[in-house]
Amino acid sequence: MKFNTKTIHGGQHNEKTTGAVMPPVFQTSTFAQTSPGKPIGVYEYSRAANPTRSALEESLASIENGVRGLAFASGLAATDAVMKILKPGDEVIATDDLYGGTYRMFTRVYEDFGIKFHYVDMTDLKKMESLINSNTKLIWLETPTNPLMKLADIAEIAEISKKKNVMLAVDNTFATPYLQKPLDLGADIVMHSATKYLGGHSDVIAGALVVKEKELGEKLHFAQFATGAILGPMDSYLVLRGIKTLHLRMQRHCENGIKVADFLTKHTAVKRVYYPGLESHPSYDIAKKQMICGFGGMVTFTFNSAKKEDAVKFLEKVKVFTLAESLGGVESLANHPATMTHASVPVDKRVEIGITDDLVRLSVGVEDIDDLIADLEQALK
Ligand SMILES: *Cc1c(COP(=O)(O)O)cnc(C)c1O
Repeated sequence: MKFNTKTIHGGQHNEKTTGAVMPPVFQTSTFAQTSPGKPIGVYEYSRAANPTRSALEESLASIENGVRGLAFASGLAATDAVMKILKPGDEVIATDDLYGGTYRMFTRVYEDFGIKFHYVDMTDLKKMESLINSNTKLIWLETPTNPLMKLADIAEIAEISKKKNVMLAVDNTFATPYLQKPLDLGADIVMHSATKYLGGHSDVIAGALVVKEKELGEKLHFAQFATGAILGPMDSYLVLRGIKTLHLRMQRHCENGIKVADFLTKHTAVKRVYYPGLESHPSYDIAKKQMICGFGGMVTFTFNSAKKEDAVKFLEKVKVFTLAESLGGVESLANHPATMTHASVPVDKRVEIGITDDLVRLSVGVEDIDDLIADLEQALK
C-alpha cells in the first residue's frame, strides 16, 4: 500500500462480529475468561491491550513503516517509556533546542535517576559523534526542532548510531510520516505527540512509539504495561479517526505553510522567517532530501524591532489564528515560545539557542489561505 492508502487501511480490518467499518470504542477494563487463564479472545485486561488501542497501534506501525506501534496517554508518556528502558549510568545525546517538556523531563526527572544527558547542535555531526562513549545508549533527535525549525540529517545520524551501536530515537511530531519516515532512514524508534498532527483536531492528548524491531517493541510494551501510561479506548478512537485524513490535512498544511512563510519573508515588519521550505533556510538541502511531500505547517518568525511588545501586540490582534499552546490541528494557532511552550527552558539557555522574546511560532492550519494572510496582515499592521 502507498502512504495515502495506509492512513485509511493500514493494519485495519472490519470488526469481526458486526462488520463495523470503524473499530468500536471498546470501553471496557476487562474481558471474560472461560477457564482461569483462558480468555475468550486474546484480550485479558485493558492496561495490557485493548482492541480499540490495538487498531490504532496497528495503524501507527503501518504509517511509520514499523512492526510495532504503542499508544500512550501523551507524547511525554511515550518518551518516558523510552527512558525507562535505560539504567543509571547510561548516557543520552539529545538535540539542543529540544521540545521544552522533553528537556524538563530529562533534566528534572531522569538526571535524578542517574542518567546523563548531553545537548548538542545536531547539524554538527563531528561534535555529536565526539560525545559518544561506552555509556552512550541513546541519541534523541528532534527534526525539525521546535520552535526554531532546525533540521538534522536523520540518515547520517543513523549511520553514526549504527557504527557506534547506539539506539536512535526521532521525535517525528512536526514532520509526521507524511513528510519523513525516520525508520526508513535508519532510526530505531519514532516518537509522536499524537496530540498534534496525528490526532489533528485539538481534541485529545496522546502519544506514540513505533519501532522496526520486534524485540525492542516488546521491551517498550513491557515498560508501558508495567508502569501504566496507556491511551484509553475513546482517545485511541479519536487518534485513529484523525490519522484517516492525515495525508489530506498535511497536503493543505504544506500548501498554506509555504504561502505564509513567503508572505512573512516579504513583510517589512518581519526580520527572520524560520521555515524549512525557504531557500534561505540553512538546511534547505536536508529539507529537500529528507522531507518528501512538502515542508509542513510550522512557521516561526521574529520582528525587525526585536521587541517583545511587538510580538505580544501581534498575538493579541490575530483573529483567525488563535493564541494558544499546541500545534498540528486543523485550526491555525499562534504561540509565544518564550512565555508559553518554552517557559520551562531557563532564560540563559533560551537566549543561547535563539528563542528570543520577539519570536512567534505559527501552526498554520487548513483554513482558506486568503483569510490566513489577511489576518496576519492586519495583526502586523
Ligand atoms: C507537544 C510535543 C511533545 C509532548 O507531547 P504531549 O502530547 O503534549 O505530551 C513532544 N514533542 C514535541 C515536538 C511536541 O510538539
